[in-house]
Parts: sequence; C-alpha cells; structure tokens
Amino acid sequence: MCSDVDCLQDQQHGTQDGEGADPSRRAFLTAMTLMGGAAMTGLSAAPAIAAPSADGPDASLTPDAALAEIMAGNARFVAGKPTAHLQDLSIIKARAAEGQWPVVGVLSCADSRVPVEMVFDEYIGRLFVTRIAGNITTPEIVASLEYGVAVLGLKALVVMGHSSCGAMKAAIDNPEVPGQISALFPAILPALYLARSKDPAAVTRTNALVQAATLINASPVIEEKVKADTLKVVAAVYDVGTGKVEMLPLPTDMLIRG
Ligand SMILES: [Zn+2]
Repeated sequence: MCSDVDCLQDQQHGTQDGEGADPSRRAFLTAMTLMGGAAMTGLSAAPAIAAPSADGPDASLTPDAALAEIMAGNARFVAGKPTAHLQDLSIIKARAAEGQWPVVGVLSCADSRVPVEMVFDEYIGRLFVTRIAGNITTPEIVASLEYGVAVLGLKALVVMGHSSCGAMKAAIDNPEVPGQISALFPAILPALYLARSKDPAAVTRTNALVQAATLINASPVIEEKVKADTLKVVAAVYDVGTGKVEMLPLPTDMLIRG
C-alpha cells in the first residue's frame, strides 16, 4: 500500500519488481540505435531535443529550459518542420513500456484543433496532458496535475487556451444548452468578470491566467514547488489560425499568497 510519493514513484516505474539500471541502459542504447538507423536512411533529421528518459526526472533540466524546449517545438510546428513524430515509433518500441518521466504538464481545451503534442512538436512521453472544454481547473484536473508534479517530477505547467474557443463564447453568451454543458460556465465566470469585456479573445487570455493562478492557489503541492523555483506555472494562448503559441507570464497579484 502506498503512503508517500517515493512509493508511488516506485510503483509507477516498476522499481519494486527489482528492475535494475541495466534494462534501462539497454533500452537507451536500443533507442539510440533505432534513431541512428532512421537518420542514416534519411528518414528523419537528428532529434533536436533529448528523447524521453526512462531513468527518472532530469535533475539538470530547469523549468525555464523545459518551457524553452516546448516553444522551440512550437516554432518547428509553425515552420512546417516538425521532427518528433519521426522518432515516436522508435521510442514506443524501445522504452515507452518502462515508464514515464514527462517534463511539462499541459492543461488545454478539448477542442479538436488543439493537438497538444503536435503543437509543441514533442515526443511520446515528454508531455503530461490534461484536457477539458475551456481548460478549467476542476478538482480532478488539479489532482491529475498534482500527480504529474509530485510523482512524475514535472518542471513546468502550461494552461493553454485558444482562439475561437466555443466554451468561452458559450460562457459569454450564456445560451440555453442541453444536458450538463452549462456546468462548464461557472468556472469561466471569474475570467468574464476580470476581463471586464465580452471580447472572446480577452476572456480567453484572462481565463488562461485565472486557471493557471488557480492551480497554484488551490494546490499546496504545486505552490510549494513554485515557491522553491523547481516548478514554473504559466498561461498560454494557441492561435488555431496560425499554429502559434503565445506564453503569458502569471501576474503575481493573481496569487492569493503572493
Ligand atoms: Zn476551446
């Protein structure tokens, strides 16, 4: 029975079964061989960033470096020169079953035009993605990201809204809707209030900031890492028309405890 983070990490990565370092090293060499083979046949460019590790969180990777990595991926995506998908099958074959050590957690809208790994041109195993209409911080979303931070060692969390978001428009217009769709609206109301505007773009930006601040304000697990500078939480907006991501630094006055 797990009662602490270390125990959860052991279960997550199978170390309680006596899995030593050798299989990981073998898998690493296999992955490198597969990647090298693909490169030699001209099927792919050399990977621009490191492949996912199966050996634990990368202690040398800072929160700023993790964010720079995904923004470099977004630049490749926008330029029409993605590379991550060329490596994904090799990674699956070589080491995906060994466990996961993602580096950035993302909370994005469920919108079909926001394919998160593609947008950041990231490998399998590199992003820990939660999705829900309106990219709102429900208790289950917070719990999922807390797991990513406390157990998997995420370096950064990105709350990413997007242009032309139906959830923002619905919250602004407050129409009659069937089923439980209106359950989404209350979580977006603080952004509507703070934006002082019914402009969807302004509400989208404000909502991303509000939800990012809520991750810190509602979670001592996340707040503690942010204050220790081992985790960065930022908002972002994705433009569905251009493919570009714009990062939005979190104003400190949105944080309840500074
Ligand atoms: Zn949306």
